[in-house]
Amino acid sequence: MVWRNPQLSVEEVAQPTLRNEDDVVIETLVCGICGSDVHASQADANGYVGFAGPARLPVILGHEFTGRVVEVGRGVRSLRPGQIVAAESIAACFSCSACRDGHLNQCERVELVGLTVDGALARYIRVNAAHCYSVEPLLERFSESLGCELGSLLEPVGCAYNALCVNVGGIKQADRVAVFGAGPIGLGAVALAHAAGASLVVAFDVIDERVALAKKLGADAAFNLATLATQGVTPRDVLSELTHGRGVTIALEAAGAAELFPDLPSLLATRGTLVYVGRTATTLVFDPNPLVSGALRIIGSRGHAGYGIFPALIKMIADGTLNLAPLITARVPFDAAASAIKQAWQRRDGKVLVRIRDF
Ligand SMILES: [Zn+2]
Ligand SMILES: [Zn+2]
Repeated sequence: MVWRNPQLSVEEVAQPTLRNEDDVVIETLVCGICGSDVHASQADANGYVGFAGPARLPVILGHEFTGRVVEVGRGVRSLRPGQIVAAESIAACFSCSACRDGHLNQCERVELVGLTVDGALARYIRVNAAHCYSVEPLLERFSESLGCELGSLLEPVGCAYNALCVNVGGIKQADRVAVFGAGPIGLGAVALAHAAGASLVVAFDVIDERVALAKKLGADAAFNLATLATQGVTPRDVLSELTHGRGVTIALEAAGAAELFPDLPSLLATRGTLVYVGRTATTLVFDPNPLVSGALRIIGSRGHAGYGIFPALIKMIADGTLNLAPLITARVPFDAAASAIKQAWQRRDGKVLVRIRDF
């Protein structure tokens, strides 16, 4: 809590240039607004920046993007100028022990694009080529415009894929999945669980628009927690009824709502897994005994880099397995980026996309 009274402004900056031989410079086309952009630019009641993860301010925000490669470093073999790519926003060092074990998301010297280093709400961005993936299959399957927009969803939906398909270990048809928080990551989790054929997918949020979006993305049922509370109904009551008392095999927390967490283990079936993706600025007290009696697992998950996540999602979107189009609820021009971030403060949208250029 170092920073107070965050301000958003539009500035002229120098165009980024190649710095290392594995860098590429990308002309940005589409950039999504993320919950962390909202948290980084919004103050809490005491005026402090709301973002609880690493940040180095001031910074150019934006990390969910597609763009066209315009310049490649001498050491880059995988990309050429003109290609349209999406990029992971976890900038790994590739040399610490976590990276050497293949766990780029847990890099000990991680930089976060758009939070600790300059991001994509700008006309150009410099990134390491190893984090870029061609979105050609999306451009071929859809129009260039929609293909680029869907490409910008790989980053947030990749976080859901990393949580469910990598860290939990996959979604099976027998799984009963509850998702808390129907922001873009939670909605991505709903879409992935639905695409995997999970036998039950239930979402919870506190905003009606997002409850409705969860149904559009494939939730079998979705509830407004605030409405349930006025009726004296808890998520546990709802899930107990929907699972005939068995509980869910996977619960995903993507709300960062500290008050929810202590009750979540009790929603799980025997040997169920709670995966925590939200971030919270407070510490928690909870009863660990259900973990012992139920052989439950609680795991955390950060990021979307490596493990073949972007290529898997590109394929699923291109072949029609995963329909993410309903996630996009607003498109704004670059001029309106700052007001778009403020629009996202309302948390009513799925994904607000900034169209950086006309194309
Ligand atoms: Zn994000
Ligand atoms: Zn590293």
